[in-house]
Amino acid sequence: MRKKFVRAIFPGSFDPITNGHLDVIDRGIKLFDELIIAVGRSPVKNQLFTPEERVEMIKEIVRERRMKGVSVESFEGLTVECAARKKADVILRGLRSLTDVQYEFQLAMTNRAVAGIETVFIMTSERYGFTSSTLIREVASLGGDLSNLIPENVQKRLKKRLKCKKIAR
Ligand code: ADP
Repeated sequence: MRKKFVRAIFPGSFDPITNGHLDVIDRGIKLFDELIIAVGRSPVKNQLFTPEERVEMIKEIVRERRMKGVSVESFEGLTVECAARKKADVILRGLRSLTDVQYEFQLAMTNRAVAGIETVFIMTSERYGFTSSTLIREVASLGGDLSNLIPENVQKRLKKRLKCKKIAR
């Protein structure tokens, strides 16, 4: 049987990227021929890092870990439009728990209804089932140890950013 080439897009805020995201990416690489990590430039969310900084951090990780077939970029607007521009076959999303499921189902059904694109879900490892970028930002602002939950380059940037914020206050 001929194996189809599959390009997936993994959209998200990644503010910042966590080991939970990376766990989904590692599993995704095994399933897809190409994986595009697409960092949203959503103006709505309370951001700690600029889209450029987030892309840079992820690129550092992709380079350092020699992730084959993985590319990183930022996008504005609808995920489905970015997917179409990039000629992605599927959207990849991660699931942590049942609470993610309801929202992710709505999103996946909307994307399928408006653009006919399928979403593939990957369950994260139990280790990262509770990890979210929001929690990482909160724990980091209180000085907690996050070494098990985020990569080293992200830890360094977080420390630096929060120090600057404290000085600015
Ligand atoms: P968004 O704001 O689009 O939800 P996120 O950066 O928060 O962006 O998440 C991007 C994707 O990664 C989403 O599908 C989210 O459910 C998933 N995700 C986030 N954290 C984890 C984690 N710890 N394990 C698995 N998937 C995760």
